[in-house]
Amino acid sequence: STPSNSSAASDVYKRQKQQLRVGVIGCGAIGREHLRRLTDVVPETIVTGVADYFLPAAQSAAEMFHCTAFQTGEDLIASPDVDAVVVTSADPSHAAYVLEAIRHKKFVFCEKPLAQTAEECQQIIAAEQAAGKKLVQVGFMRRYDRGYMAMKHAISSNEIGAPLMIHAAHRNMSQAPGFETDYAVTRVAIHEIDICRWLLDDEYATAQVLGVRQSSRTSGEWLNPQIMMLTTRSGQRIDVEVQTDGAYAYDIQCHVVGEDGIVSLPDPTSVTKRAAAATHTPLMTDWKDRFIEAYDIEFQEWAKSLLNGAPTGPSAWDGYVACVTGDALIRSRQTGKPEDIVLPEKPEMYE
Ligand code: NAP
Repeated sequence: STPSNSSAASDVYKRQKQQLRVGVIGCGAIGREHLRRLTDVVPETIVTGVADYFLPAAQSAAEMFHCTAFQTGEDLIASPDVDAVVVTSADPSHAAYVLEAIRHKKFVFCEKPLAQTAEECQQIIAAEQAAGKKLVQVGFMRRYDRGYMAMKHAISSNEIGAPLMIHAAHRNMSQAPGFETDYAVTRVAIHEIDICRWLLDDEYATAQVLGVRQSSRTSGEWLNPQIMMLTTRSGQRIDVEVQTDGAYAYDIQCHVVGEDGIVSLPDPTSVTKRAAAATHTPLMTDWKDRFIEAYDIEFQEWAKSLLNGAPTGPSAWDGYVACVTGDALIRSRQTGKPEDIVLPEKPEMYE
């Protein structure tokens, strides 16, 4: 066929493809990343609206991504031009926007954490049950990272025998001003809380934070590092070293030890230099780069699943379990003892 014919054919293909009209609430660091992603990397989505507390932020994003700047998140959710909502505003605003989207029976992708408290997560679960339809997905993007996916496959296909324990580390170079000790759980280790139960396909039984010598490189007043210990119902143990500040790189480590072997998270690909009688392999410094492909796949899968009728990624239940586990970790720092993690029965929708 001639070049003009093939481009006409591709136009027809594009027009025939169903597209989801997405509105994004929160035009900060990750909001802008996801706007770019939804525009450039996910063929199934078109961004039709943005909102932000700070209206000029929404207006400049609207100009860049050729869409409408709404006065409020609520206006965006109610708009007939928005089929699905992405919540990337500050943590304390998540639950109310998710509930509002459910009230409008609209799909909603919420960055972690789903809510500030387990009680708010339960309200979201109750609203989703009442809507009678799965609408919510939570932004635990590590489940879409190729390294973690390969680890999960190795574990579930019994390549390392029964998993016994996990050694994990989450090391950050810096934090924005205003960081607090509890955020090491609610903003940082929340990723390990989710990924470890997903890898092991088990629920947690207890949670504890252990004290450790403090790093002199911490720039603020919060505790750093912290060690977080979790046990699962089948008796596996997980230790997570969390350095929120002053680390040598943004470095994520995870080793699952089984009866017959170990499976480890690979480092991202990087050129190794051999010179001056030494080898040198750079590490990453920014979370946006470390998990860029995982975020892309996360949104591609989200869009496809919605066009097929319902989200298939991390659910409101997963957001709830992360909150309950985080609460137990924070409580244990105060009691100095392991805290039990008690969950109600999982509603059928999340099986
Ligand atoms: P950020 O740069 O501070 O951006 C948040 C934006 O939302 C700001 O523009 C803020 O406006 C706006 N905002 C705050 N409250 C709002 C409200 N009630 N309604 C509308 N807009 C509101 O923060 P970020 O780093 O992008 O993080 C945003 C969210 O994504 C957080 O919940 C964070 O935990 C999550 N996140 C997840 C990952 C991940 O790995 N999955 C990574 C990064 C962030 P003002 O500046 O005027 O307050």
